[in-house]
Amino acid sequence: MKPKIIVVGCGIVGAMIAYELSIQIAADICVIDEYSPAQGSTGAALGVLMGVISQKVKGRTWRLREKSIRRYRSLTDELQEQGYSVPFNSQGIVSLCFDEDKLSRWHQLKEKRAAQGWPLEIWSPGELKEKCPHIELESELKDENGDRTLRSVAAAIYSPMDAQVHPAKLTQALVAATQQKGVRFLFGAKVTGLNMNGSSCVGVQTAKGETAADWVILSAGLGSARLSEISAEPLELMPVLGQAMEIRLKGEVGDRTFQPVINGDDIQFVPLGKNRYWLGATVEFPEGDVPPSAKADGLKNLQQGAARFCHAIAQADILNTWSGLRPRPVGQPAPVIKPLGDIENVILATGHYRNGVLLAPATANAVCEHLKAM
Ligand SMILES: Cc1cc2nc3c(=O)[nH]c(=O)nc-3n(C[C@H](O)[C@H](O)[C@H](O)COP(=O)(O)OP(=O)(O)OC[C@H]3O[C@@H](n4cnc5c(N)ncnc54)[C@H](O)[C@@H]3O)c2cc1C
Repeated sequence: MKPKIIVVGCGIVGAMIAYELSIQIAADICVIDEYSPAQGSTGAALGVLMGVISQKVKGRTWRLREKSIRRYRSLTDELQEQGYSVPFNSQGIVSLCFDEDKLSRWHQLKEKRAAQGWPLEIWSPGELKEKCPHIELESELKDENGDRTLRSVAAAIYSPMDAQVHPAKLTQALVAATQQKGVRFLFGAKVTGLNMNGSSCVGVQTAKGETAADWVILSAGLGSARLSEISAEPLELMPVLGQAMEIRLKGEVGDRTFQPVINGDDIQFVPLGKNRYWLGATVEFPEGDVPPSAKADGLKNLQQGAARFCHAIAQADILNTWSGLRPRPVGQPAPVIKPLGDIENVILATGHYRNGVLLAPATANAVCEHLKAM
């Protein structure tokens, strides 16, 4: 008989796990979500996949990033062949460096990446202006006292192999493709607890009744913490708020044939086509035990911050604004992919904090490998 696997949560992580499980493991798979797909953090995400351009060069964090970047290259084509097209910007990421002192670190990263087989380019300000004419080389900064200083771009780091994907559309495509492979999805069903027999989990409880399982994968984002309380080693997650917006510029900017994601001062400027862009995201921590709430000036600062490196943003129309809560693990690095304490048949696959879209493929693969090894 095929093993029964329940995946709790259908954000990008749960959907990706279900998709990879359906390819790699012969099992009876059911995904359960309280709402419809991509309603949690995934619905707020910008889908920027900062793999090669990240400063992580070794260990688990780099391995997960590298695996994900590789998988993304084949995944979108694979989905396309099955009839599901997902917006994917493969023109790379340009990161603006305003600090000369940080340049040596970027040069070291470039060498390291070359040795790992990944290209990175370091552009002079002149090259940046030629390739991305909409990006300003000089910008004015105002300090708390209102004093102004002029700041210049020292260089731009271009990562052609990094990319950006539409997180909600990808999640929906994964759900549709996975359904075609026989996986069941139960939406509108909140998992209220895990049913135990000794130290083994035998299923999950929802308002609609009990569903039996041999394996439970907890990929419920922030909701994973409460469900993990059944263990002597529960997972602690901190909600970190992010605000973002969609804007439309008054006219076309840059080179129409080359529209990479631009990252300046940790603000992502994400091209969507037809002069529309996403801008994001703020990083707002809770104060004590109080969950973070959107700070009024967060969006204003975002737009002003981005307008420093692309002036056209200052006059843009704001089409939409939103926020979401990122699941950040407390006391351990993100993401958390491991059994829930001594409950060996419950696997935590959560706590992806700022990089859940990026790391979803590697997370799904790690879950598959874990199950295959058992
Ligand atoms: C503004 C913003 C911008 C971001 N930008 C990026 C980016 O550019 N790149 C990137 O890689 N990451 C980005 N992130 C981070 C990313 O969104 C998250 O890391 C990722 O979405 C986490 O995915 P998830 O599937 O684990 O969680 P979620 O998307 O939160 O999904 C969890 C799901 O579990 C369900 N659930 C919870 N509890 C239960 C329960 N008890 N029973 C049933 N269902 C339950 C929820 O309904 C939800 O659908 C961003 C986040 C924010 C907020």
